[in-house]
Amino acid sequence: MSQSAQRSGTSPINDSADKSHTDDQALQADLAGPREECGVFGVWAPGEDVAKLSYFGLFALQHRGQEAAGIAVGDGRHVTVFKDLGLVSQVFDEQSLQSLRGHLAVGHTRYSTTGSTTWENAQPTFRTTATGSGLALGHNGNLVNTAELRDRVAALTGRPAVQHGRDAATTDSDLICELLASTAADVGVEEAAVRLLPTLRGAFSLAFCDEQTLYAARDPHGVRPLVLGRLERGWVVASETAALDIVGATFVREVEPGELLAIDRGGLRSTRFAPSEPKGCIFEYVYVARPDTTIAGRSVHSTRVAIGRRLAEEYPADADLVIPVPESGTPAAIGFAQASGIPYGHGLVKNAYVGRTFIQPSQTIRELGIRLKLNPLREVIRGKRLVVVDDSIVRGNTQRALVRMLREAGALEVHVRIASPPVRWPCFYGIDFATRSELVANGLDMDGIRRLLGCDSLGYVSLEGLIDATEQPSSRLCAACFDGKYPIPLPEDAQLGKHLLEELMAEDPRNITGPTNGANGKPGGIARVGAGSAASAATTFGSAGTMRQP
Ligand code: SF4
Repeated sequence: MSQSAQRSGTSPINDSADKSHTDDQALQADLAGPREECGVFGVWAPGEDVAKLSYFGLFALQHRGQEAAGIAVGDGRHVTVFKDLGLVSQVFDEQSLQSLRGHLAVGHTRYSTTGSTTWENAQPTFRTTATGSGLALGHNGNLVNTAELRDRVAALTGRPAVQHGRDAATTDSDLICELLASTAADVGVEEAAVRLLPTLRGAFSLAFCDEQTLYAARDPHGVRPLVLGRLERGWVVASETAALDIVGATFVREVEPGELLAIDRGGLRSTRFAPSEPKGCIFEYVYVARPDTTIAGRSVHSTRVAIGRRLAEEYPADADLVIPVPESGTPAAIGFAQASGIPYGHGLVKNAYVGRTFIQPSQTIRELGIRLKLNPLREVIRGKRLVVVDDSIVRGNTQRALVRMLREAGALEVHVRIASPPVRWPCFYGIDFATRSELVANGLDMDGIRRLLGCDSLGYVSLEGLIDATEQPSSRLCAACFDGKYPIPLPEDAQLGKHLLEELMAEDPRNITGPTNGANGKPGGIARVGAGSAASAATTFGSAGTMRQP
């Protein structure tokens, strides 16, 4: 959730130093854009280096989550998990990948849409069943019955769900893993999944495994994407088709909404655990997915170009140059230029990796604001009437700073065009926008937003135009952040929120937290369990050098 919620600080309104600080925080939060959710990857391929395949698969999914990464491998006898905070390239090296040997793997990249950014919340999340076998799970999406699941776990274990004798994990994904593991001991993982999955509410695209079998499942609405691919000697599942491409897998089909796949030596089995009622996230087309990904048979790049063309029809502009806000605004800017006949050019250069550092910028650097992320090409911009195409507006701080920067760089006019309708509602299915009160389109009309941004004109593509561009029937799409029509019923406010489990944990009288390392994660981590022997289970934390029994 946006850290601009830190506005709950104490700054009096006339305290200009504090105000500039909070503005600065809001801009920093905004610069990060809508936060993606997570990426999942799974591979079953005996004879292949499944850890390295997962590593490259996760690279292709890095845009979906940059806070943590992990890979679990199964070798027939053990499940081993390695995970940590950081980018895929920071978490893994040759040595750690060499230690992950097996014939199947599950990988995950995380942005926290539930729970804080801690080592415990990194995925794959891991459990040992009562029979001593391991279970590792990666989840993309957000559940909306987390509080109910937490009560179920508490009823099963007699403890708050988040206490497992180690530091607390506070994610809905952890609850899924716990509930699966608790039933799997009696009936096996596959049957446990068939029983559990229909009781989960919300968005989930899952990849999980035990020692022998890779599983994949998608919620009945298929809110988040999940695809199946074929290797010469195995199978791959991944959040996006781009992750199949990078490992040389050929696209087979999407995992169907309400479908569970199991892949092992017996081949691929498909079980329908719920009827399919597709409501795919339309924001995947706008911003989340890679442009080289295909969703429901439609290329994301082509969709974005079509949105730009529609935008030019709906909101034409008299201008000299169309420039994108890179990267996600680029295809729509191309479409706008094609349809309008206005030349297309690059007027902004992106510092592509600056938003992905864990190092906090110094105050001097932070004061540069948007220049941390985007730098204008002055010789291109000077003296021009510009159309600037961006993917979406959340709080508006980025676009306001951008318009000012373009004027300072010599633009004569700035016409802002947005390749999605106004974001007026929060997402509870796995995209971290902001609270409703922080959304600029929630409190202002169109002219109010234009004046706030300081641009000469403003145009958002219509929802109808966006849906047409996806070539999907509106009945198969979720567009709740634009129209407020949530396809999966939501519980009351008190049962929602990114930090719900942490809040419940703080309130629970049974919660006696033992000693923890207290930090945001430990360097490097392996969880390993030997099949058939719960006593062999151990958790080690790399260079922290500590070992505890879970
Ligand atoms: S509310 Fe918006 S971001 Fe969330 S799933 Fe629906 S379309 Fe996607």
